[in-house]
Amino acid sequence: MNEYQVIVVGGGAAGTMAAGQAAKGGAKVLLLEKKDRLGRKIAISGKGRCNITNVENVSDFISHYPGNGRFLHSILRGFDNGALRDFLADYGVETKVERGGRVFPVSDDAETIVKALAAFLRDTGVRVETGVSVEEFLVDNGHVIGVRGNNQKQYLAPAVILCTGGSSYPGTGSTGDGFRFARQLGHQVITPRPALVPLKTAETWVKEVQGLSLRNVEGSLWVEGKRQGAEFGEMLFTHFGVSGPIILTLSRQAGDALREGKRVELRINLKPALSPEQLDARLQRDFQKYTNKQFKNAIDDLLPQSLIPVAIRLSEINPDKAVHQVSREERRTFLKLLQGLTLTITETLSIEAAIVTAGGVNVKEINPKTMASRCVQGLYWAGEVVDVDGITGGYNLQAAFAMGYRAGKAAAEQL
Ligand SMILES: Cc1cc2nc3c(=O)[nH]c(=O)nc-3n(C[C@H](O)[C@H](O)[C@H](O)COP(=O)(O)OP(=O)(O)OC[C@H]3O[C@@H](n4cnc5c(N)ncnc54)[C@H](O)[C@@H]3O)c2cc1C
Repeated sequence: MNEYQVIVVGGGAAGTMAAGQAAKGGAKVLLLEKKDRLGRKIAISGKGRCNITNVENVSDFISHYPGNGRFLHSILRGFDNGALRDFLADYGVETKVERGGRVFPVSDDAETIVKALAAFLRDTGVRVETGVSVEEFLVDNGHVIGVRGNNQKQYLAPAVILCTGGSSYPGTGSTGDGFRFARQLGHQVITPRPALVPLKTAETWVKEVQGLSLRNVEGSLWVEGKRQGAEFGEMLFTHFGVSGPIILTLSRQAGDALREGKRVELRINLKPALSPEQLDARLQRDFQKYTNKQFKNAIDDLLPQSLIPVAIRLSEINPDKAVHQVSREERRTFLKLLQGLTLTITETLSIEAAIVTAGGVNVKEINPKTMASRCVQGLYWAGEVVDVDGITGGYNLQAAFAMGYRAGKAAAEQL
């Protein structure tokens, strides 16, 4: 007789939730994790504060997953943002809501989430083995019968839940093993690619303003000269290009367009709350206020200091010119720049540097009611290894937890 009834491979958000739920459902569960401890990615999520979910109404939730949101429809209803917060509260983790509906632990410490999950595993009696990397899936007659670890041990069970994550931040243990297993097991893998990733620009002036963070700006993405999408919020300049929340959200579309060989631009509207006419009036007011000053000293109220030399250069207005001598045409050019600072996007950073991996196991081959594989009996999938990805704001962890919840429950019910 098998020692275990369910084996869970991977101890991240999806795997810990799946293992605990399967055990809660009455199964004898083994969780195998290749790193020396569970939840390494959770621990670095949200800059170490862990944005676990979002308070968005669950019926609007799926619109925040550019990668197969519809697949998540009933999965998220089965374990929604409220259920996740209640679950954490049961383990002593109170949560709070921040800007954009983002939910964080009150402790501002992602470790409290990892500890809560570890307590859940203890309470439900899951056996956890860390430092074991699964290397092979054992299949007999179309039915999974267990796995083999790098310690050459065979672990047998009639159900295996595969939760090995994507290929991003491989230092956390997510090195894309699940994609290899998926192919070996006869699943189709939609090409893994970076989503939520910083973007490189052709313009090198970004280096001059690296570290500058802009709030309340609008970034719009232009592909072959056509506006494809826009995001409002915060962004950051880096030595290679741009990053920050709105850039990460636009990066998925930018990456797809670049891979198709298309021309991609980012236009930053530094004053999105003002119409061009209002901005012009504002600029004229500033010019009157500083009437005897040089142009370079008359725009302090409009732009962050470090951006001023760049903006002046791009506008091609003589910085030493007295503001009252700035022509109407020059003012127009400058206004255009303020509402359409343009950067040419050359590439995304690599998948390793992406917050999330897009692509993964084809959702058509997974039953959303159970997360069971349609290719191999007894096999279940959950988390980022599946071809589902969300924008920033807590959507990816919520998806991983919800998929893990459903897979764990279903695997126990199958027994
Ligand atoms: C820097 C960063 C910040 C983020 N911030 C947020 C955020 O604030 N909010 C949000 O919603 N999302 C965030 N994300 C995304 C989110 O963390 C992931 O989508 C989520 O953790 C995926 O969970 P998972 O369980 O599917 O995979 P993972 O958390 O990657 O877990 C997979 C586990 O499987 C293990 N494993 C892999 N291969 C094997 C093997 N062969 N044998 C045994 N074990 C194996 C790995 O070691 C790992 O522990 C962030 C991601 C990063 C990188």
